[in-house]
Amino acid sequence: MNHHLPDNEKQIWKFVQKKIKEKVSSQQFTTWFESLKLIKFHADNTYILAPNSFCREWIENNYMDVLSSTLREVTKTGYKVKLVTDSKEAKKDKPSIQSNKLSLKEKNNTYINKNYSFDNFLVGPCNRLAHAAALAVSASPGTAYNPLFIHGPVGLGKTHLLQAIFLEVQKRSSGQKVLYMPCESFVNHYISTIKTGDWDSFRNQYRQIDTLLIDDVHFLANSQSTREEFFHTFNALYTCQKQIVLSSDCPPEEIPAIEERLISRFRWGLITRIDPPGFETSVAIIEKKTALMNMEISYDVARYLAEHATSSIREIEGTLTNINRYAIISENKIDLNFVKQIIGRPTKHKSYIGIEEILNTVTKHFGVQLSQLHSKRKLKSITLPRQVAMHLTRKLTNLSLEEIGGYMGGRDHTTVMHADEKIKNLKKQDRSMSATLRKLETLITKQHKG
Ligand code: ADP
Ligand code: MG
Repeated sequence: MNHHLPDNEKQIWKFVQKKIKEKVSSQQFTTWFESLKLIKFHADNTYILAPNSFCREWIENNYMDVLSSTLREVTKTGYKVKLVTDSKEAKKDKPSIQSNKLSLKEKNNTYINKNYSFDNFLVGPCNRLAHAAALAVSASPGTAYNPLFIHGPVGLGKTHLLQAIFLEVQKRSSGQKVLYMPCESFVNHYISTIKTGDWDSFRNQYRQIDTLLIDDVHFLANSQSTREEFFHTFNALYTCQKQIVLSSDCPPEEIPAIEERLISRFRWGLITRIDPPGFETSVAIIEKKTALMNMEISYDVARYLAEHATSSIREIEGTLTNINRYAIISENKIDLNFVKQIIGRPTKHKSYIGIEEILNTVTKHFGVQLSQLHSKRKLKSITLPRQVAMHLTRKLTNLSLEEIGGYMGGRDHTTVMHADEKIKNLKKQDRSMSATLRKLETLITKQHKG
């Protein structure tokens, strides 16, 4: 019965009002908008309280566009605006969207790979510090390094280490509540909570955790309001000496748009970087992986592979899997000759490109938000970057059409195929388009050299 808005919604509403102020004259603002109050986000609706029915009708007839488009800009969600003059009207509406009701165990189960253990992690100079810190954290969560922040380029073992901490903490004490999740899921959970309005359960879920592991926090770059919520979650856990572990593809200060106060929180603990493996470490990783895969290779072959390996361990794994597969199909022994045939031209310096980087580069270039690419909106200013992102992902990664569709807000594979075709055609017909694509590709691949 109380009329109390969660802090976050207050924040959102303040922000909406501020934006409206920039769009209308100050007289219009004071006459019509100043006295509006947000009652609640409920299901797909935003309930806004008008002081009287005259004001309500006037806004409905004259300012609905401004109101709903501003709301959309701020929340990145297509709410319908409902103006009411009595706050009770909002209570009749039942939320239609179920909040994220999975149990902790079910959530972890979706992400955790049992093979990402400390036992299976090979330590070398490139990751020694990160590994030591991760071990220390799992031995005494909340007291060793807090937060622990691990960063480095894709494919070098950040996710592996975070999950190793998860597995180890769980093994040591079954009473500990540990949660691992990709930051993108945190963002999605936040956004779906804006719709349901169930902030209590959102907050309870994170704040009861003893060890929270959030992977790929560079995803926070895309949403100011999620960062805000993340900041509060962080503070709540930190104050209770709960362990926080984060990973990112760049150091905290390089996460686009991130606020100083979050950066400084991250610095309270330990920030450590994982570097690409050097030659010796690559050889050792190759030997370890092949042993795990029951592949027999000689030291020569391991060296040859390491020499020609890319900097990404994920890609090394891919190469090994390929070799193994061909060896089985062709009933060949894996010797140097065979390996040379298969890997053909050295793949050195061509390293793994992740969809995150493509999305990052594309959103930056077109000045759109990731959530807009994910959304169902059909405005040209959004569909074009969306299609470009799909095309580039198709071209630069080996993700399947289904996987790309999944990343792009759950679209099906024909949509991706169509987008890819469309951009390919545009590229042929339109000079500036082909220049843009070239530029984007260079930007994306450049991040993988040096
Ligand atoms: P990131 O999260 O940094 O992009 P991942 O943790 O997903 O990278 O690692 C990519 C792959 O490489 C995984 O299969 C992981 O098991 C493997 N890997 C990474 N570093 C190591 C390591 N030091 N020892 C063994 N395997 C590793
Ligand atoms: Mg990862």
